[in-house]
Amino acid sequence: MKGLDKEDYKLFVEDALQNCIIVGGACRNGCSFCSCKAQAAAGLKNWTEYISLEDLRSVLHYIDPNKTIYFGEGVSFLSCEPFQHPQYLDLLELLNQHFPNTPKRTTTICKGIDPQHYDRLRRAKITFVAGINTLDRQKRRALMKGPEDYSGVVSFLDECAELIDKISLLYTGDLEVLERDLDQLYAINPALERTRIMLRLPEYSMHHNSVVRELHYYAKQTWHAAIRLFDDKVEKPQYWLRSLSDFPQGTRHWQDEQGLNIHDGRASFQRRMDDVRQRFGDELKKRRVAMLLAESVWDYCVATYPELEANAIKVRNRAFKGSYQVAGLLSRDDLLGAVKDNPPFLRYLVPKDVFPRFKRDILGHHLDWNYGSLALDLI
Ligand code: SF4
Repeated sequence: MKGLDKEDYKLFVEDALQNCIIVGGACRNGCSFCSCKAQAAAGLKNWTEYISLEDLRSVLHYIDPNKTIYFGEGVSFLSCEPFQHPQYLDLLELLNQHFPNTPKRTTTICKGIDPQHYDRLRRAKITFVAGINTLDRQKRRALMKGPEDYSGVVSFLDECAELIDKISLLYTGDLEVLERDLDQLYAINPALERTRIMLRLPEYSMHHNSVVRELHYYAKQTWHAAIRLFDDKVEKPQYWLRSLSDFPQGTRHWQDEQGLNIHDGRASFQRRMDDVRQRFGDELKKRRVAMLLAESVWDYCVATYPELEANAIKVRNRAFKGSYQVAGLLSRDDLLGAVKDNPPFLRYLVPKDVFPRFKRDILGHHLDWNYGSLALDLI
């Protein structure tokens, strides 16, 4: 294995410092809804060569043994399906020799995993997010192009159920398919009923094709009904948080110490709003301060705090267009566009999620924007 080139290696080290190790390689699957491909088309992240055993060995001293190691996914790169790496198990075993007691986690679509290797996975103490999307053969054919391995997926779900930390399903707009998927999962192995299961609404950006756009709008029509059904049938339901308002009343609340559910999402937003009101209460009342809010929270904010509607500026995602709403996918220019389109304020409160890495936005723009005498505060 040749390993990473110099430029990629630098970022590989940065990722290792965050306990994330990609294994490299461009994904050979053809999921139409793939967000990795959209990120590649937008020029945000790249695929890399497969990493070598030497690449891995050289960053082991950066790893914090007291934190989960994400092995097969990273921050700086697109991550291929980890089991496509021809030496994934050798790499995993090398990692495990050094960190036998540290939890390891990765995401897989569960294809191409040789049953003869299940014991090696158990010994390496790795757990998985199983991104199976759906078990409906017809939908899989339409949405997940690429080599199919249906019996392999079923066998992995059954025999390695104890290694599966979470299952991720894509809502295709068909309630019957969703119900069947859940029944089938529980029939494969009843232990999966006690696993966290996440439901995602397909999202699209300007970098996806029209099929994904249509899928999004089709699925959205019955999204609330899907949540009700899911809430009813899943012991530990989770939802991909697209918007704090995108959920019907009465969505079930269960305590999940590892993930973020709609209730935690709303509570976290309310905590931030309490902080904002405490720090800027007078200024907000005098209309001197405005909040630049992603679409994912704007509706919820004005419905929950109607007295702050005049201070809440909705920021649309112009960088990617489409259905992406969360703050983490906004750019500096999206924020500036919203400032320009609205009456002026003296100070703007900016979600810190827009600038998560070295105070840069998702397109690499730095926070110190130069836009007249704009005063900013990260919240
Ligand atoms: S397996 Fe993952 S990375 Fe590969 S095409 Fe599907 S969604 Fe994209």
